[in-house]
Amino acid sequence: MFGLKRRKHLFPGIFRWECRACGHLFHQGNPVMRYAMDEAGERHPIHLPGGRGAVEQVLGLSLRELKRAGRIGGLRLVLCRDCDHVFQIDLKRDSHACLECRSENTVDLESFAGEACPKCGRGKIKAKQIAKI
Ligand SMILES: [Zn+2]
Ligand SMILES: [Zn+2]
Repeated sequence: MFGLKRRKHLFPGIFRWECRACGHLFHQGNPVMRYAMDEAGERHPIHLPGGRGAVEQVLGLSLRELKRAGRIGGLRLVLCRDCDHVFQIDLKRDSHACLECRSENTVDLESFAGEACPKCGRGKIKAKQIAKI
């Protein structure tokens, strides 16, 4: 499980996670992706804007109905501290183990911001938004 530290929730956009001191780039991407699940449990990303209607059409239900049925979720970016792999999971539903090396030494990137850099040990990790989506 992740630490007790409260996550600072980021909004959708393109962010870069890098060290303020050594400049190491850990990841660049969108930290938040909502999805709707079909009856088979397959996840369909709800892109903004425009995707909402497409998802409603494919699944045959409105987002409100999907939400009521518990079929809406959010994917978050998670970093593996052991192999540096970054992957996307639903923190509430999925295993937090690394999809690459199976390590459980992982952290969601929202919590990672503000931590000491594991590469140089001097700087802090900064999440910087570089584009809107
Ligand atoms: Zn790993
Ligand atoms: Zn560093």
